[in-house]
Amino acid sequence: MMVVMTPEATPEQIEAVVRKLEARGVHAKVMPGELTTAIGAIGDPEGVRELGLEGLAGVDQVIPISRPYKLASSELSHHAQSVFEVDGRRVGAADTFCLIAGPCTVESPEQTRVVARVVAEAGASMLRGGAFKPRTSPFSFQGLGYDALEILTEVRAETGLPVVSELTSAQHADRFAESVDVVQVGARNMQNYGLLEVVGKLGKPVLLKRGLSSTLDELLMAADYVLKEGNERVILCERGIRTFETAMRFTLDLGAVPWLKLHTHLPVIVDPSHASGDRRLVGPLARAAAAAGADGIIVEVAEDPEAALCDGPQQLYAKDFPAFAADVAAHARLLSKELA
Ligand code: PEP
Ligand code: MN
Repeated sequence: MMVVMTPEATPEQIEAVVRKLEARGVHAKVMPGELTTAIGAIGDPEGVRELGLEGLAGVDQVIPISRPYKLASSELSHHAQSVFEVDGRRVGAADTFCLIAGPCTVESPEQTRVVARVVAEAGASMLRGGAFKPRTSPFSFQGLGYDALEILTEVRAETGLPVVSELTSAQHADRFAESVDVVQVGARNMQNYGLLEVVGKLGKPVLLKRGLSSTLDELLMAADYVLKEGNERVILCERGIRTFETAMRFTLDLGAVPWLKLHTHLPVIVDPSHASGDRRLVGPLARAAAAAGADGIIVEVAEDPEAALCDGPQQLYAKDFPAFAADVAAHARLLSKELA
């Protein structure tokens, strides 16, 4: 429910509404606007109705919010679009495009450093690199773990690129808070609600990937888990979903980009690497994502993908990355977006 205050409502009257909601166990989010303040009342709508808030001083009206997701909804936001910075790089702004690139997995200092230099030079705004890998088989390479976080920290210092890495377990959360600039929640953990709450409390920007078989409503409700902990810096990522089509690794749902832009204020990026599983498709899909209005992309790049321990076939050759980046930037420019 949304409680809309009158233009004359005093701070004390707003506070009284918040107290009444919280006493009922309802999450209250105060959104000061230019004319009036609105208060998002997130909890059981029946319970909110029973509070009879319409009768309180300063309250203009109480209106239902129709969507199943609340904090992520563009209905319940005082800004049309969330814009924030990751180490000085703007994410979500109408005029910026965020290029996140790097190896699938951190395998050694040298392998990571070489790619980081190439992508930084070509205009990437952040470096990706897996430390703990969510592998389908427990017998596949699982990542270098904490050693990878140390490598990322070194490479960040050398290149100035903020780093994105995936957190797979709440156990590692404190180390991630120290070492990474953006905490990724992978597709397989999108509905790991305990992990989402932990990530919400870390106070770091979060890159939340859409689950392999999750609807967009479910993605936005997952984002609500992070947002309700007071962490507003959430980036959504479309990374392909399971459909009847098996020609590609997943089906990239490009319609998700404009749909999410309509229904949420959160920045939206696309991962054409994991969606397609094939580097030959990454360029066209990345360009399409940029032209569809995405706020950025995240792509995998390796100097020698054939030797990669994970996801070799989809990683772009580092030598091809500058041309790839220029091409994507040209498509982002169609929508007046420049590389962040
Ligand atoms: C990744 O980005 O490294 C990854 C494993 O992606 P996803 O969770 O989308 O499969
Ligand atoms: Mn990968």
